[in-house]
Amino acid sequence: MFAATSLVVLSCGDDSAGDGASSNDEIAAIVDDLNDYWSQADDDLGFDYEPVPLERVGTAADGLTCSLEPIEAEEVADNAFVDPSCSEGITVAYDPAYLGESLARAEATMAHEWGHVIQAQAADLDISNDPDGLPIDAELQADCFAGAWAAERAEADIERLRTDTAKAGDEGEVDIEDPHAHGTPEDRTAAFDVGLDGGPAACVNELLDTLPG
Ligand SMILES: [Zn+2]
Repeated sequence: MFAATSLVVLSCGDDSAGDGASSNDEIAAIVDDLNDYWSQADDDLGFDYEPVPLERVGTAADGLTCSLEPIEAEEVADNAFVDPSCSEGITVAYDPAYLGESLARAEATMAHEWGHVIQAQAADLDISNDPDGLPIDAELQADCFAGAWAAERAEADIERLRTDTAKAGDEGEVDIEDPHAHGTPEDRTAAFDVGLDGGPAACVNELLDTLPG
């Protein structure tokens, strides 16, 4: 397992059903798109984005390793995570069955994970590093960054992404101190919309005003 710092392992899944399948090629295309987007949008945030190589994005079955240790399927079941601490470079691991449920699931999950990539590359932008910050802030900021990425897409795609983001929300009451909390469907949609409407900078400057707690 990984060392425990605030950003090392961020599990971001749920187990709701999807509406179709996405392939590894589609996931590679999503990764390319996210790399292209953030290579431009980094100007808004005042840092130099470093694209994540495709070989650092994969599944346990791909033989993906972190500091020479294989990623185990159970670490990533029904989920995806970003680990910036691996000696090989930043690692984005995902469960192909989970992402394969639908294209919207694959896109929404990867766009959220890329929020964690941004936080890893520019720690001063990570609002959970604020003295009053909580792990849930990092999760909702990742949804916000996903919304910023979604803004350039067609209206119907944006709606599918928003719906999938909400579906991955926590059920019932959310304890905002819980290190595993991601936010209710409403919290997650609100964060997504801040990025959608305001762009990436809003996820650093304005998002705190909409966060729970
Ligand atoms: Zn997350």
